[in-house]
Amino acid sequence: MSDAPFRVLPAITDRNRPYWTAGRDGVLRFQRCQDCEYWIHPPSVLCPICHSKRLEYEDTTGRATVHTFSINHQPWMPVNGALYTPWSLVSLLVANHSA
Ligand SMILES: [Zn+2]
Repeated sequence: MSDAPFRVLPAITDRNRPYWTAGRDGVLRFQRCQDCEYWIHPPSVLCPICHSKRLEYEDTTGRATVHTFSINHQPWMPVNGALYTPWSLVSLLVANHSA
């Protein structure tokens, strides 16, 4: 068996492609409601606040504040299916002003 780590990659769809490919442009990009300006993630078909379907992708400023984080040392899966440990899970408050 291979020692290469098993990774589940996201399924790229027309709806989520701008998010998953934004790194090539060096930006963090989320959907944003064009009616109430609410930022939406994960990608959706309508705004969870006003139910508008006028959603577009916009670049964030790239700045954020760490809200909380966790460092995981438990692999949780059998060795050949494990993620490398330790790995981190981070919750960010993304700055979204356009100035
Ligand atoms: Zn909205």
